[in-house]
Amino acid sequence: MEAKIVLLPGDGIGPEVVAAAVRVLRAVEGKFGHRFIFEEHKIGGCSIDAAGVALTADTLKACQAADAVLLGAVGGPKWDDPTARERPEKGLLALRKGLAVFANLRPVRVYPTLVGASPLKPEKLAGVDMMVVRELTGGLYFGEPKGREQVNGHIRAVDTMAYGDDEIRRIVDLAFQLAQGRRKKVTSVDKANVLETSRLWRQVTAEVAAAYPEIKLENMLVDTASMRLVSHPAEFDVVVTENMFGDILTDEAAVLTGSMGLLPSASLGRGGPGLYEPIHGSAPDIAGKGIANPVGTILSAAFMLRYSLKLEKEAACIEAAVEKSIASGRLTADLGGTASTIEVTENILQNL
Ligand code: NAD
Repeated sequence: MEAKIVLLPGDGIGPEVVAAAVRVLRAVEGKFGHRFIFEEHKIGGCSIDAAGVALTADTLKACQAADAVLLGAVGGPKWDDPTARERPEKGLLALRKGLAVFANLRPVRVYPTLVGASPLKPEKLAGVDMMVVRELTGGLYFGEPKGREQVNGHIRAVDTMAYGDDEIRRIVDLAFQLAQGRRKKVTSVDKANVLETSRLWRQVTAEVAAAYPEIKLENMLVDTASMRLVSHPAEFDVVVTENMFGDILTDEAAVLTGSMGLLPSASLGRGGPGLYEPIHGSAPDIAGKGIANPVGTILSAAFMLRYSLKLEKEAACIEAAVEKSIASGRLTADLGGTASTIEVTENILQNL
């Protein structure tokens, strides 16, 4: 197949880890007879330096016209001035909006040889393999009214949590579809004892579940979920939740693996190009040293092949090569090893 992929390496270690993923994609291209056409653009701080904005209209247009977008990371101390008009993260938000991606998928897997890198006891970690699906465009972060007002001489700040049944249905349905290819369990996380949006969430989730009789649905309050993520993490398969709960729970779940450098993510909409990126930031403390862990970005590239290009065999092949590389002990410094970004990448290429 032929596919157009926009690369947005961004700032800090972004270019180093995206270059590693491109080498892996080139190897897949040769091995399976595909043609990937790469087009590189700027995002974040480097785009502010070059064009004054974190995402130019031309870059967004190129992303919208692509089959998929692979991003490194944005930001760094150079652009950290909180009073600055343009900040690197603005490029990310504009990109998500411009691509209309509403679902953020974050898998969390604990590799057997890496249990020592996790803050949890090894016996808690056996079998941890979950997919957290976070709603990305609704809820408290976007609801109206939003803002500040003067009331009786005091300042009042307001955020609004709002969800439509259509917004809930599309994300919950995606979670059930994902569960079909996994261990057939969906945990829907809400706060239905207090919030009206959560009661609607539960109602719609029950309706969606009726169409998937083979999948077990479990409703869980967010406070319980935050405890069980660390006390019984192996119980979770697919977790689906609204925007803010997902924002918090995905970071909590990420800690289970021991390193931010390992985890990929996918942001998907309806039909259009998906956005793929590692969950870590631009890691300015190690940028340019050649020691960044490329695994999160390489696994994001595997996600891209699976979800946007429908190349399941190729995606699984990359994942197996990464797993073998981790098992061999060829690790970067974040996992206690001494290997460079290039050495880990070349080990993965050999396994392919
Ligand atoms: P970070 O994820 O960049 O780094 C946190 C720690 O993890 C650092 O010690 C870093 O060295 C380490 N780390 C992260 N990725 C690694 C990798 N692949 N290999 C080895 N070690 C890795 O988070 P931070 O330090 O809070 O933020 C740094 C900058 O990144 C900030 O400007 C922040 O705004 C930005 N950021 C961007 C994104 C994004 O682009 N999606 C996400 C988070 C933070």
